[in-house]
Amino acid sequence: MISKVTVKAPSSTANLGPGFDVFGLAIDAFYDTITLTKTKSGIKIITDDNIPTNPEKNTAGLVVKNMKKKFKIKDGIEIKIKKGIPAGYGMGSSAASAAATAVAFDKLFGLKLNGNSLVEFAGSGEKASAGTVHYDNVAASVLGGFVIVKTNPLDIIRIEPPTNLRMCIAVPTINVPKKKTKVSRSVIPKKIKLSDSILNLSNAAAIVAGFMKKDSEIIGNSIKDVIVEPARQHMIPGFAKVKENAIKAGALGVTISGAGPSVIAFSKSSANLKKISLAMAKGFASTNTKCQTVICKPSKGAANKRK
Ligand code: ADP
Repeated sequence: MISKVTVKAPSSTANLGPGFDVFGLAIDAFYDTITLTKTKSGIKIITDDNIPTNPEKNTAGLVVKNMKKKFKIKDGIEIKIKKGIPAGYGMGSSAASAAATAVAFDKLFGLKLNGNSLVEFAGSGEKASAGTVHYDNVAASVLGGFVIVKTNPLDIIRIEPPTNLRMCIAVPTINVPKKKTKVSRSVIPKKIKLSDSILNLSNAAAIVAGFMKKDSEIIGNSIKDVIVEPARQHMIPGFAKVKENAIKAGALGVTISGAGPSVIAFSKSSANLKKISLAMAKGFASTNTKCQTVICKPSKGAANKRK
């Protein structure tokens, strides 16, 4: 009988421009580590990081609560959370904790759930952070690589990314509102022009084709979003400059990572990635904003990173 399981889950970027709430990509920039231990009763969260420790308010706690209920498990669970992913910066931090927890719970109780079920439970935890259930980050973090989220019924399509795909991420050191995802969802237009929808659809289709053809140029060149990015970019100081600089330095496409404020540039391993990162940092510096830059590539998911 196993009494303790540790699982690592990667950071992720959601949307990739035109794929709002549909696309996700696991990235090896940062990882969360979760250890679940069976106890006599209750759910207890242990962490040194600045995240809620009330299980109802923590994505990992909510996943444990939901899975315990669904599988009628009487044991208590201690959840140890070691955050590697900065919370609230659009790097799928809350999702990674949820993803690692769903995979660890499955292992701890020998449930042998399939990918879609693991993603469904992990997604249920996102209610603790975003107020709504959404699957783009958790799907990437659980399964790794590039994912397409289909809902009603939930079905995740996973595509292995091209080996030469690289990303430069700039995480600005600014204060983010507690319910950032909720706030940044509220600025998105309720109605959109058909011509804008067509533009986004064509780019989203091209991104999928780029992953299928293992062509990083098609992916990068199609990271174009005329609906969500224009509505949100005012929330990121210096966004236009960061984007312009990255493109000038050789990035193929640049957009907001998830709900922001991190900005992500897509490129290839042959590009000057240091130059792109530096250009992005200079863009943020133009509004006196500091940032952390990371050069990264796609990652495996929590489900294939079990220890
Ligand atoms: P991110 O893209 O980093 O997940 P969100 O704004 O969606 O950003 O989520 C961050 C919010 O979720 C923060 O307010 C944080 O306190 C809360 N949260 C709850 N549980 C966790 C967790 N296990 N890890 C990180 N953040 C969490």
